[in-house]
Amino acid sequence: MEEKALIIGSGIAGIAASIRLACKGYQVEVFEANSYPGGKLSELVINGYRFDAGPSLFTLPEQVEELFKLAGQNPDDHFEYLKLDVACHYFWEDGKKLKAWSDINRFSDEVETKLGEPAGHIRESLMRSAFIYDHLAPLFMHRSLHKFGTWTNPQALKSYLKMGKLGIFSTMNKSNERQFNNPKLVQLFNRYATYNGSNPYETPATLNIIPHLEFNIGAFFPKKGMHDITMSLYKLANSLGVKYHFNSPVEEIVVENGRAVGVIVQGQKVRADFVVNNMDMVNAYKTILKKQKQPKLLLNQPKSSSALIFYWGITQNFPELDLHNILFSEDYKTEFDHIFKKGTIYSDPTVYINITSVYKSDDAPADCMNWFTMINVPNNQGQDWDSMIAEARKNIILKINRILKTDLEPLIEVEEILDPRTIESKTSSAQGALYGNSSNNKFAAFLRHANFSSDIKNLYFCGGSVHPGGGIPLSLLSAKIMTELVVSNQ
Ligand code: FAD
Repeated sequence: MEEKALIIGSGIAGIAASIRLACKGYQVEVFEANSYPGGKLSELVINGYRFDAGPSLFTLPEQVEELFKLAGQNPDDHFEYLKLDVACHYFWEDGKKLKAWSDINRFSDEVETKLGEPAGHIRESLMRSAFIYDHLAPLFMHRSLHKFGTWTNPQALKSYLKMGKLGIFSTMNKSNERQFNNPKLVQLFNRYATYNGSNPYETPATLNIIPHLEFNIGAFFPKKGMHDITMSLYKLANSLGVKYHFNSPVEEIVVENGRAVGVIVQGQKVRADFVVNNMDMVNAYKTILKKQKQPKLLLNQPKSSSALIFYWGITQNFPELDLHNILFSEDYKTEFDHIFKKGTIYSDPTVYINITSVYKSDDAPADCMNWFTMINVPNNQGQDWDSMIAEARKNIILKINRILKTDLEPLIEVEEILDPRTIESKTSSAQGALYGNSSNNKFAAFLRHANFSSDIKNLYFCGGSVHPGGGIPLSLLSAKIMTELVVSNQ
């Protein structure tokens, strides 16, 4: 008889886990608290405007494609995406603008012409980024850090010799200051710390691995929007016989004689051979694992930043805006001090505007745009969010008005807001953090929960709050690492 797996949560990692386990021949059931799949990777439709509710930047598409291939399907038949020519449009208050061309030579030339930074500096920086990726990705992204074999394989041994060059002993900001003369470029490359909710002035320079993904490999856009990552994989899981139960919050993971043997949903015990938790790890220990031993050190790690998002239907076309746009703060250091030290929102925040209707015209009515307008904010520590949000909204609109030379307020015909409190209530993310733990110290990678429980047999973990970390690609990889552990253990 097939062994049975239960998965708690249908975030992107839960869906990927269901596909991988089904492909390995397990009978899989997923219990999801919401009425829809995808967790943070969901969508919102209001009065003719469609918004991707959470993630907007898509990197490493092969992680999605691999799931179709595993199931014997051609990814192109189910999920289409395109590579962006320009990863992001950058704007500063002094009128300077920069396009981050995906063609590195073109980007380097643009940087030299517009900011006076020698083109070679960009090329060298991206080569360093590739070097870090080549040495660390096989170790930190593709394997469990909690298995002895990971540390004794030849790839790991090779990386030990290069430790000094991997940026472990410096910060992202210090490294970028060494590489670039122009503070605007330091700021641009410091922004990559926000891709996993960290502070560039504290996070190790090792995180300079991230620009490699966007520049050397590429930034992509799913032709039907980010939400199609969820929906195409959800359909694939269904086609493999995975059973999804929505509106079904798991109340407890049942542990008997040190083994996970099932879950309790709506008061009923559902038994299985093993259980996979995709719920945020911290909140899982507080609720569905509250009777079990608590990994205190891991639970108490500082969380990543959160976000404040205004989903705005805008009744005007702005031809100077692209899919990804950044309007930079004039004082980045102070902005991050507010987020990570003071727990407040700076009065001049960096504003990110994501507009999918630029590529997918039916996401907004004719001559209108769907603006996903986001700033990075502290995670939820019980602040007075209502007044902070009202103040931030005012400052964001003033900033947009100054930089785009417009009067935005009358153009906003539709508005919805997502903040750290609602991120937590909708997806169970501890403190509304976007990426689980922050990476603000050099040990952060080692202080994420493993993809298995060392105390409870047959209990596994996947998702952005456990190893290897947050973001779509890493969440997808967590499902891969977890499945390999299941296969080697069961
Ligand atoms: P989650 O999406 O956290 O979902 C967990 C699921 O578990 C939810 O559906 C929840 O309802 C369910 N659940 C919780 N408790 C229970 C329970 N007791 N019983 C049953 N079900 C339960 N990443 C990128 O790569 N690029 C980006 O541009 C990007 N931008 C982001 C912007 C925002 C605003 C946010 C919020 C996130 C962003 N991320 C981005 C991060 C990315 O969305 C996450 O890292 C990733 O989606 C996490 O997936 P996950 O599988 O861990 O599950």
